[in-house]
Amino acid sequence: MQPISNIFSELSEGTKKVVITMHQKPDGDAMGSTLGLFHFLIQFNHSVTVISPTNWASFLDWMPGAKNVLDFEHNESDSNKLIEEADWIFCLDFNTLSRTKNMETALLNAKGTRILIDHHQQPQTEVFSFGVSDTTKSSTAEMVYDFICNAGYQDKLNDSIAQCLYAGVMTDTGSFRFPSTSYHVHLMVAELLKRGLNQSIIHQNLFDNFSENRLRFIGNTLLNRMEVFYEYNTALIAITQQDLYKYDIKTGDTEGLVNYPLSIEGIKMAAIIIDRGEERKCSFRSKGSFDVNSFARKYFNGGGHYNAAGGFSKDTLEKVIADFKIAIKENKNELSTYQF
Ligand code: 5GP
Ligand code: MN
Repeated sequence: MQPISNIFSELSEGTKKVVITMHQKPDGDAMGSTLGLFHFLIQFNHSVTVISPTNWASFLDWMPGAKNVLDFEHNESDSNKLIEEADWIFCLDFNTLSRTKNMETALLNAKGTRILIDHHQQPQTEVFSFGVSDTTKSSTAEMVYDFICNAGYQDKLNDSIAQCLYAGVMTDTGSFRFPSTSYHVHLMVAELLKRGLNQSIIHQNLFDNFSENRLRFIGNTLLNRMEVFYEYNTALIAITQQDLYKYDIKTGDTEGLVNYPLSIEGIKMAAIIIDRGEERKCSFRSKGSFDVNSFARKYFNGGGHYNAAGGFSKDTLEKVIADFKIAIKENKNELSTYQF
């Protein structure tokens, strides 16, 4: 993988067919960073399409350009054609092609140049010709901002780009509270505000946009579906398929739920297991010195970051809960000592 700076000079050369893609079930950073890059690249008259491997949460629909994003699962032949014919394929907010689920084969067979912009650990560098992978970065949105500025196009930062990148960095920093919220993140946000960004409406769009059902679902979850293991400074939430049906829970409605138990004093790791029918999806969050990326990789076919990771299992919900309890026992030493 060559440094991404090697493509800077080509940005303004000719008209390219460009596909920008992200991980399945995109979050605010995946959608914000890809659409931010979209609004930058179209200024060079390239023909640019953003493709998501799957559907996404409706609270992301307000983003400028979101209504033109293709859902691969619902537009498979159009998406495959675009991927096949693309000169450039930007891969944002993921670093192994398997994170694009059913799109993996199309991406692997594509003739175009694959370019990575991502902040997760252990990238599959051999499948990307150019790229930047930096685990110290708060978000892929921050890296798209750097890409635009380092290429010398700060003057092209417009309001659409600002809205998308702000949503991305805000999502991935837990509203600017995680340790990854560096001095540079605040400088970026300051620059976007200087250019006229209205940030409070973005918070409203992302956080004050839910159904009554969802709030009642959260209430039920915290009351009846959360188990706290004080011996291991750990809490687990397990959601059944019946819960999802009962409260009419849609993609994205469970976002952020995993963070609630971390507000209990002393809790160092929080986990959520959701029975999605075809698989059991897991999310892990930690504070301080417990590495959930390694934990997710070792026990739940997953990965992510040091303090935020995910995985999945094809076993039953009961089996995954039992496996989780065994896994925390095996990690008792790391979980029972506190280090920030
Ligand atoms: P979330 O828990 O919000 O789904 O994901 C937290 C972090 O872990 C994200 O950075 C996400 O990309 C990563 N992640 C979530 N699920 C998986 C997975 O199944 N495999 C890998 N490698 N990473 C995941
Ligand atoms: Mn991200």
